[in-house]
Formats: sequence, structure tokens, C-alpha cells
Amino acid sequence: MQTHGFTLIREEAAQEIGGTARLWHHAATGAQLLSIRNQDENKCFGVCFRTPPADSSGVAHILEHSVLCGSERFPTREPFVELLKGSLQTFLNAFTFPDKTCYPVASANLQDFYNLIDVYLDAVFHPRITEDIFRQEGWHVSADSDAPWVYKGVVYNEMKGVYSSPESVLGEQSQQAVFPDMLYSLDSGGEPESILQLSYEAFTNFHARYYHPSNARFFFWGDDPEEDRLKRLDSELARFSTSPMDSHIPLQPRRDCPRLIEHAYAAGADETRAMITVNWLLCESNRTEEALALEMLEHILLGLPGSPLRRALIESGLGEDIAGAGLETDLQQMYFSVGLKGIDAGAYAEVEKCIFDTLAELAGGIAADAVEAAVNSAEFALRENNSGRFPRGLAAMVRSLSTWLYDGDPLAPLRYEAPLASIKNRLAAGEKFFETLIKTWLLDNTHRASVLLTPDAGMAQRREDAESARLQAFRDRCTEEEQLGLIDETRKLHTLQTTPDRPEALAAIPHLQLADLPKHNTPIPLEERRIAAMPLLFHDLDTSGIVYFEILLPLTAVPQRLIALVPLFARALTEMGTQQRDFAKLGMDIAAKTGGLDAHPFFSAGLKQQGALAFLSLHGKATADKVDDLFALMVEVLLQPDFNQPERFAQMLLEEKARLEHSLVPAGHGLVSARLRARYHVSAWLAELSGGVTYLDSLRARAAKLETAWDACRQDLLDLHGLLAQCGGAVLNLTCRPELAARVEVLAKTLFSGLPQQTPAPADDWLCPDLSAAEALCVPAQVNYVGTAANLFALDYHYHGSVNVILRHLRMAYLWERVRVQGGAYGAFCTFDRLSGILTLLSYRDPNIARTLDAFNGAAEYLRTLQLDKRELTRAIVGAIGDVDAYMLPDAKGSASLMRWLTGITDELREQMREEILGTRLQDFHAFAEVLDKARHNAHYCALGGNQLEEYARGQDWKITKIL
Ligand SMILES: [Zn+2]
Repeated sequence: MQTHGFTLIREEAAQEIGGTARLWHHAATGAQLLSIRNQDENKCFGVCFRTPPADSSGVAHILEHSVLCGSERFPTREPFVELLKGSLQTFLNAFTFPDKTCYPVASANLQDFYNLIDVYLDAVFHPRITEDIFRQEGWHVSADSDAPWVYKGVVYNEMKGVYSSPESVLGEQSQQAVFPDMLYSLDSGGEPESILQLSYEAFTNFHARYYHPSNARFFFWGDDPEEDRLKRLDSELARFSTSPMDSHIPLQPRRDCPRLIEHAYAAGADETRAMITVNWLLCESNRTEEALALEMLEHILLGLPGSPLRRALIESGLGEDIAGAGLETDLQQMYFSVGLKGIDAGAYAEVEKCIFDTLAELAGGIAADAVEAAVNSAEFALRENNSGRFPRGLAAMVRSLSTWLYDGDPLAPLRYEAPLASIKNRLAAGEKFFETLIKTWLLDNTHRASVLLTPDAGMAQRREDAESARLQAFRDRCTEEEQLGLIDETRKLHTLQTTPDRPEALAAIPHLQLADLPKHNTPIPLEERRIAAMPLLFHDLDTSGIVYFEILLPLTAVPQRLIALVPLFARALTEMGTQQRDFAKLGMDIAAKTGGLDAHPFFSAGLKQQGALAFLSLHGKATADKVDDLFALMVEVLLQPDFNQPERFAQMLLEEKARLEHSLVPAGHGLVSARLRARYHVSAWLAELSGGVTYLDSLRARAAKLETAWDACRQDLLDLHGLLAQCGGAVLNLTCRPELAARVEVLAKTLFSGLPQQTPAPADDWLCPDLSAAEALCVPAQVNYVGTAANLFALDYHYHGSVNVILRHLRMAYLWERVRVQGGAYGAFCTFDRLSGILTLLSYRDPNIARTLDAFNGAAEYLRTLQLDKRELTRAIVGAIGDVDAYMLPDAKGSASLMRWLTGITDELREQMREEILGTRLQDFHAFAEVLDKARHNAHYCALGGNQLEEYARGQDWKITKIL
């Protein structure tokens, strides 16, 4: 069949994708198209290129950023941002992998979907990648006649952030160690020093060479008509002809001798802890049955707290937490990476020995329940197909590329039924299937490399010094004329960045009209039932036969001193064992019978009360045939936990501490935000106590004295259990079809007959702390996270839906310009919580401090004088409606509805919010300027960063706390 320039190569109906897949070939250009038609209204499109790098200059990554900065038909500075401002997109981003670059979009609105595709296609094939764009997104010397020069660039700064995170360095080095002889040994994201070597010429050549239809793989998914897909692509491809393309990705040849590679990471002055991973090259990704089997093997080895390899490593006492990415399946050949963090560098060989001894033992025989748990977990995940907020179609695209990119069958990774059945059959026939895999791919596999990452306290400073020296040497080499030229260029770039786009150019970017938007919210089904005295919220949604159930236990009675223990208590319920099974057996049974069962605390403000909503949520999911097992397990963990396990508790504590420490640099904005919010609302203070810097302090304090204080700690756990295992004030939440709900209600009645009925008296000591108005949290890092906050309710502001539009615009227009484009930070956020009244402004991976704070403080003035034409206002409104209408899978809908019920956000309030959003006018922006102005005069500040921050904080008299 031939249509719109495409020839049909293959057609297949597949149950796994809920529809039909067609593989097309574009005759004139050689472009390939995988077109999947099914009922998913969350339509997805992607264009992907093979982009093998030749060095670590980050050229592929810089190009990924740059092509979104204006194109032939859409010659504005950032069409991508215009789309973000005013689209109903459910996904809009771009990714650079070690060997490919992908541009995916998704939307549940057909016209919006087409708009996104039009802009993306023009961006990749006809970008306006000028030298200024290269300098802005890649790197440049920001030169000034009377200030020190600095290197700037969005990607340069982003990658400095990545290289400041020991975890990221370990991940990158582990991959490079497995592929020493081919291009996966390079960093396609860009190694900061190498980025500074990249020339504009090399950059444009890379685009000319690889961004061609002959090197493109197009992907469609969803319920949009196929005919239009072909037509749309054909008209875009009409300007091209076939080009000889050499983008071949070579295979890594197998080596026959294991290696050890040592690297240093930038650490704090007293840091002595090292990390190690062992990394194996596995088979090619196109062996799909083996790939699925290896996923199951990963689960057997590491998937659960009691999995033998995880357990052996943790119980060895050699380190704090598991390291390594586990199984990696995105590249042409898979690899497996596992190790330990927080070790003594001298003990690395013992860690290796522990790994190999454990594997050798497992090769002799794996427990049947571990195998059952792994197979069930893999099967549940495949059938549930829950990609969270990431659209299902795009998850399928990424999976498909694991073979398709290397000229393999694009459908093979999506069709899991046959390999799953085959594995089950082989196991049923008694084959020692996973034991053989361990032997072949791990024990007898000589192609492996260990990566040892050791702390270097001077590294951050040396890097900074080297950067300054390099820049100074460059400045000294420049003639006066050249210096003036650079200063001029810097000024020119700044002018370009601050010159508004031409209205005609902006008008060319397609967007929806207000009339295209649904007038009303789509309510989530909610029926309030009762089980004994407890409300049961039931959401009648099609969950493909899965039951999602949770019980919320109020934390109201927990005194403040025990709040920091709640996250560990929550983990203890499902990870420490019960009076009937030890923790390993419990984990295995949960995995074998359910799709997951876990507990976590959450805190929020609510419209109906002054204080905090505070709950422990225990939630689980299972297929219809295993609902009884799910409930039996829930009863058991809730009523018969075994807190008498000091070693297991100590392991969880160290793990928890290590995880939080490792998140400081890559996710510092989260800690800054939590810290700022803590002073304004008691719910936010509880969240900080159990997830922020204060939580880290308490974990450290507990870890330091655990041996002597175990009895007290155990008593704390028992006290918490006494306060929580009650049904007074509890809430149940259930999402599934009614026929399943009836069965669940019977089970729930039995379950809760065992729970004590009383409601303990509320704790009376929850009080926000008096924190300094300006705080610096210091860590060894090359980037900053800068934040400011205020409580608008305390300043007499009353929530109005227009704030959704205004703050979205503030983030996408003003903060994006000032903090990202001009300031060189990777990102900036601005959020308002309508429940607590807290407004926060944050920057992400930021080279500046004072400049960013100036930008934050200038927000009020920006709004006061803002002029928006009708089109811009419409875009801002459409974008805000896009947030309100965010696409959700059924389980997420059930959770969202529960949250609204708890916090008092009724359908009526949401309808009012929608009306206010749709009716937002320019006057609302101007009026909000006054609110921001008041906020500025009452604001608190907090930042997380390295030496630069410490110096700044000293000069400004901020409170300085070293946290790493
Ligand atoms: Zn990037």
C-alpha cells in the first residue's frame, strides 16, 4: 500500500498496545514511521535521530536545546516556551541519550496536538541556530570591561550541576567503563571542560549531518486519524531527498579481562566515604526474551529489601546504601551496574568479593518464592502499564527505540506476551533459568569493570581555580581589540535576549482559542460510602481489572518529637517484617501477590481547618484474583508489625540518610523550598521535619547513637504504632469498577474489625519554628539553588483563580527570561499553594545568587507595568487550563479526588476556579503586583550552594549552616 509518499512495510495488531501498529517507509527520503492506532486519547508524537557523538563536547545536547530556540516558520526566540505557555500539552520536552536525540510531544486535544507537531517539525528540520543561540545555549565568555569575566551557557551550567553530583558522576563513569572502545565512553551531555572546546562550526555541522529525514524515526500513538499523520509528515518531508547517512552505532567488542577504574569526586572537607560499582556488559537489547528475563533477574537480585544481593551488600556493613543503576536497557547492548555507597575506599575489594560470593551461591539455586515474586512483579508492571505522568505512548516509543534505533524490529520490545509465556513455561518445566543467566552474564562474563569513586576535598576549589585561570589566560591572550570585540558580543547577546519578539513572529505560533477549551471541569467519580465509622471514598473508574486501595491513618496524635520518625516507621511496616514473616519473606510475598504495598506520610494545609492535615497512607494494588491476599497482607503489616529488629532498622536508617544526602546537590531546590515553607504553615513544618534539612539532622543524630539508644528507639516505634493503628479519623480510598468494589467492602469490614475504635487526643506541640529570615545551606557544589517565600494569606490576599494564570505567566515569561536565559540557570519555578497561602520562587542549578534574588524582587515591578495583547493573554489562560485539566491515569485520578476531598476543594470550588481562570484579565496581573510587592517586603530567603554562596551569605549576614 502506498499513500502520501509512504509505503506500508508491515502491519500488525497487538494486544499489548491495544490496537494496530503499522511500519511505514517514506520513499523520497528514507524516513521511517511507526504508527500505532489505539483508543488512547493522550496522543503522542516523536521524532528521533541517531546522534552518535565524536567527543564529550555535549554537541548533541546543546543542539537539543538550540533547535527549540526559533525556526524558519516560527522565528521567535523560543517557540518551545510559547508552546509551554499556551498549550494543553500533556508532555513537551526533548532528550539527549548517549546515541540519540528525541523530540516527543503529547496532548489529549487534537488541534493542540497538531500545533505541537508543526512547531517541533519545523524546529528540528529548519532551526535558526545562529552563533548567538549557540553561545546562549552552549557556552560563551561573558565579558565586561570592569567586572571579572565568566563562562556562561545553559548547557554548560546544567552539566556543571550534573558533575557536582557524585551519584551522576558514578552513573556516567559506570556506563563509560562498560563501553571503553566505542562512543558510549563519551558524555553526550557534555563534560564541562570539553564543552568549552566546542566550536560553532562543529555545532552546525552536527546538525547538517544528522538532523535529516534519512536519519529520522517518526512515531505516532493514540486515537488520531492515521491518514492525517501521513499527510502531515509528507508535506514536511517534501523539501528533502534521500541523503547518504552514516550514523551507524558500532557494537562494543567483548573484552576478556576485568578492569578497575578509579575516579575522584568533589567532596566536603571531612568526607571520607567512597563508592563502588561493578558493571557488566550484557547481550544486545534486541534479544527481547533475554531482556525480559534480565529484568526479572534484576528483581531477584535487588528488587526488594530482602533480595539476596541487596541484602548481602547492606548486611555486609561495608557501606550505607546500594549504588549503581541496575539493569540498563536503553542502549544497543544492555549492561548491569551494582555496588555500594558510603564505603571506605580501601574496602572496595571486599565489596566485590561480597557481590561475587552472593552470585556464586545463587547460581547454585534460587528460592522458588523469589522467582515467583520477580515474575509476578514484572507481569503486573507490564499489564498495568502505569507510566505515571509520562504518557504511555512515549514510554512505548522509548522501549521501541531500544531495538529500532539499531535497525531491529520496533515492535519486538512492545510484544511481551510471547516472551513472558515462554519464560513461564521454561520455569514450569523445571529449567534452572535464572541460575544460568547469573552464570552466563555475571559470573563467567569477563567483560566487566569496577568503578571506584573516591572523595577529593580540594576538587571543587581546584575546578573553580582552573576555570578562573583558564579564563584569565584567555583574557591575557586577547589583544585590546579582541577584548573590546568580546565585550561587544556579550552586549549584543544581552540585547538579543532582552529584545521582545516581533508580534508577527509570535502570532505565527499556533495556539488554541478560549472557545476551543472545555467550559467545565471533568469531575472524577466519587461516591462516599461507609465502613463502620470510616468514610470510604469510591471512584468508579476503568482500571483494567486492578484494585487500588489505601487507608489513611491520622497522625494527629503524634507529638512533634516523633514526627521525624514517621518515614522510617512507614518503611518499617512493609520492610521490617511481621510477627509471622521476616522482612525478606514479607517483601517476597508482597511482590508475589500484589502490584505493591507501601506506606508514606503526607502533610497538607486544608481549607476547612487551621492546623495541618497529617496522615500516614498505606496503599496497595492487586489484580482482581489477588485482592484477598492484598487485604490479608495489609492487616498483617498494620496489626502485627515486628519492631524488634535493630539490625534491619539500622540498615534502613543508613539508607534513608544516604539517599537524602545524595539528593542534596541534584535536587537542592526541593530542600530549599521545604525549608522556606516550614516557617509559614505547620503542615509545611511537619513536612520539613520528615523530609528536609531538619530530617537529615535527626537521621544523623539517630544514626550516631543508635547502638546505645536502640531500646528508646524501639519504644518510639511502638508508641507510634499505638497512636496510629486506630480507626478513629481514618479514611479509606478505593478505585476500581463497582463489581470489584463490593468484594473489597466485605474484605475491608473484616480488616477493620480488628482495629481499635478510639480516637487518641491530638498532640498539642506542633508549632512552626522561628527560623532566620535568610539562610544559606552549604554543600560542596558548583551551582546554587536560590529561593524566596512569603505567606500571602498573612498579607490579606484571598485566593482567586487568576493567580494560576498570573504565576504561570510569571514563570514562563519573566523568570524564564531573567533567571534562565539571561542568568544562565537551568530553571526557575514559582508556585502558590492555595491551601496554605505560601508563595515560593526558586531557581534550579543557578550560577548566580544576588542576580537571581534581584530578579525575584523585580517580579512585582514587572507585573505592574506589564502589557499583554489578547493573544498572549489567551496563551496564558490556555496554559493554566492545561494544568487544571492535566491528564491522569485512573489511579492518579483516585488519589487526586481523595486529596480534594480531604483538603476541602469541592467540585464547586474547582468550577469557580475554572471560571476565574477563563475570565482573567490584564487588570488582574496589575493588581497582583501589589500583592507581590507586599510579599517582597515580608519575604524570607534561603539558598543551597557551595563556596560562592558561603561568601555571599557572609557578606549579607545570612545564617550559614554547613550540611555536607
Ligand atoms: Zn539539557
